[in-house]
Amino acid sequence: MAERVLFIDRDGVIVEEGQIDTFEKIKYLSGVFGALSKIASSGLWYLAMVSNQDGVGTPSFPKEEFEGPHNRILDTLRGEGIVFDALHIDYSLPQDHCPGRKPGIGMLGQYFTQAYDLANSLVIGDRLTDIELAENLGCKAIWYAPEGRKEELDERLASVCILVSDNWARIASFLLDDEHLAPRTATVERKTKETAITLTLNLDGGGLGTIDTGLPFFDHMLEQVKRHSGCDLTIKATGDLVVDEHHLVEDVGIVLGQAFATALGDKRGISRYGFEVLTMDEVLGEVAIDFGGRPYLQWRAAFKREYIGNFPTEMIEHFFKSFSDGAEANLALKVSEGNAHHQSEALFKAFARAIKRAVHRNPYSTDLPSTKGVL
Ligand SMILES: [Mg+2]
Repeated sequence: MAERVLFIDRDGVIVEEGQIDTFEKIKYLSGVFGALSKIASSGLWYLAMVSNQDGVGTPSFPKEEFEGPHNRILDTLRGEGIVFDALHIDYSLPQDHCPGRKPGIGMLGQYFTQAYDLANSLVIGDRLTDIELAENLGCKAIWYAPEGRKEELDERLASVCILVSDNWARIASFLLDDEHLAPRTATVERKTKETAITLTLNLDGGGLGTIDTGLPFFDHMLEQVKRHSGCDLTIKATGDLVVDEHHLVEDVGIVLGQAFATALGDKRGISRYGFEVLTMDEVLGEVAIDFGGRPYLQWRAAFKREYIGNFPTEMIEHFFKSFSDGAEANLALKVSEGNAHHQSEALFKAFARAIKRAVHRNPYSTDLPSTKGVL
């Protein structure tokens, strides 16, 4: 069977970026050993290191100063069971325009044969040239960068890039197709005489998506949920706003809760509990959540205003109650007195961050966080 190749960059991915010409400069990136040893031991990938090492062999980077630290890196990785099947190191300088220099594929001709499955191979790299390398190879890329940077990619590179993450555990869970590491997504559609809602959720996203409920303040709050939970969330909701906001807000809360319940599946490996205390100017918001399978809302908040914009403050409690029902989650919210907009925003942000902790999945665990054996 044709082998799938993982083309892995060295600097900025395995070790910190920089001209590594002394042993002191070798600094490993967090989580790289655990993740790469799991990937290596899976046997699912042919491991190829592809690295540009500018000007090795010139006076500014003598070959022996490259080789000592480089061999030490390979030795250390080998000690953790991480053995590269192939090494492709280019020593040229950018101005040499060497065809072997990334994103060029001059060193990688051997992979264009029946022995390799390039279409299902991947590049992992921290630079845009690594993504371009993937494009030139006809494979896909994982951009080793903070997840929020996904939006910096233009359309062409975004189509090549299937994951943006600088979290090695996340990358390992993405690559290793374990059952408990299946994608955690949900799409919920709900249509009644009062509202029509389509919602998609990806618990392991990067805070992306669009929110459109027709209620600007509600959109603003749901944007906080998306951004601060780290989940991808897209909501398109229309409703009988000519009657009032009640049905729409309630139904979005229910559907969002249901989407979390669906995406969490059997809940193996998750933290289950999440909490956050968050300050916003004069206001202190506190939220705790338990995706334990039972709905309950504790609400300790009082607003001095009846409306924020055209959004009735009484619907904030009702939204969270509806979410708790839909998600079958215990949800406790508390906020101090203050400006109503700050109160609301503090609650939604804390809610999002509590969710982020609660849905966090340990990629190496299949434990159910309950002594009952079911959640
Ligand atoms: Mg790099």
